[in-house]
Amino acid sequence: MSRLRADYALASVAFLGAVATAAILPFAVYRFWNREYWQGAVDLLVVLAVVLPVIYAWRSGRNRGAFLLILLGGWIGSLAITQMVGLAGHYWVYGYLVMTFVLAELSVAVIAGLSLVLVTCILGAGMETPIMRFSYAATAVLVVFLSAIGAFQVAKQRRLLERLASTDPLTGALNRRQMAVDLAHEVNVAGRGGALPAVLILDLDHFKQINDQFGHEMGDRVLVEFSNVVRELVRRSDRLYRIGGEEFLLLLPAMDEAGTRVVAQKVVQQVADRLRVPDRAVTTSVGAALWSRGELVSSWLARADSAVYQAKQAGRNRAVLAAAPQHRPLPAQQNQGRRLSDDVT
Ligand code: GH3
Ligand code: MG
Ligand code: MG
Repeated sequence: MSRLRADYALASVAFLGAVATAAILPFAVYRFWNREYWQGAVDLLVVLAVVLPVIYAWRSGRNRGAFLLILLGGWIGSLAITQMVGLAGHYWVYGYLVMTFVLAELSVAVIAGLSLVLVTCILGAGMETPIMRFSYAATAVLVVFLSAIGAFQVAKQRRLLERLASTDPLTGALNRRQMAVDLAHEVNVAGRGGALPAVLILDLDHFKQINDQFGHEMGDRVLVEFSNVVRELVRRSDRLYRIGGEEFLLLLPAMDEAGTRVVAQKVVQQVADRLRVPDRAVTTSVGAALWSRGELVSSWLARADSAVYQAKQAGRNRAVLAAAPQHRPLPAQQNQGRRLSDDVT
């Protein structure tokens, strides 16, 4: 049930599956009972065309392919119903037109909807007068456009909400909530035999002095510039999170020890070269840790944390790469599904 709550598209489509079954299955039974085998078979096909992809999406977690199948099945099924039932069959088209926007992105939904309206309008089954045809076309096109406007607004607001929920407003870096999700994901991918991810924890040096000496606003500006410098020098696939006041974490997918060391040193160097307050350079201390197979996220972060501490102890403005964990890593199998996502919050 929690799957359905989190995945609104799958929930809508599962609901559609239930409605289609409840609404159409009795017709199918009735047709077979009356020996109208051909029409009963079409009814049954429509039900299966919705229900089977829903089951597939549910079990595989791959919504898109399943949804496109339902979109296509629904198109053919709606067309068949209009041809078999005549005018009353066209009422089903309206439901399909709205549903396309749950099943596919805006452009695909509009194309599927308008093409169905066009074809059914040309065929005009059960429409005896031009005014009937015109009324059908006008109302159906209106439904497509009103639904498109609604879907566009919903998509825009969802993007905005996702951004607000996942980023830090000052620096635009991602926040801890997103970090927990991404770390768990990286570890899962790597646990299945993918390349190893690395984290760098970056802590600005003597940041309190900057605030005390130049004011909080200058401190904020340094934080913004710092994030810009770091984001500029890493790959697009690397992700920067703000995890505390002047503490950041950089997640580097697909790394090795040498690569991690190079990036960590580059960050330290570039920040020292490019970030300034009026009378001096701003520096940073970096603790790096390469994920070790079977390691829990909490242990991975703790290693990076103690590496930062070592960098501070050793005089700041430097990077320290954490040693591999002491324990023998668990076999990859045992690591699967073990609290990885709850590990960091
Ligand atoms: P160290 O080199 O050991 O890291 O020293 P530090 O001064 O950087 O470390 P400390 O943790 O003592 O101080 C962090 C300071 O960061 C304290 C706090 O006032 C400041 N800070 C935290 N969040 C913000 C923020 O959003 N804006 C500004 N301007 N300052 C912040
Ligand atoms: Mg600091
Ligand atoms: Mg700190």
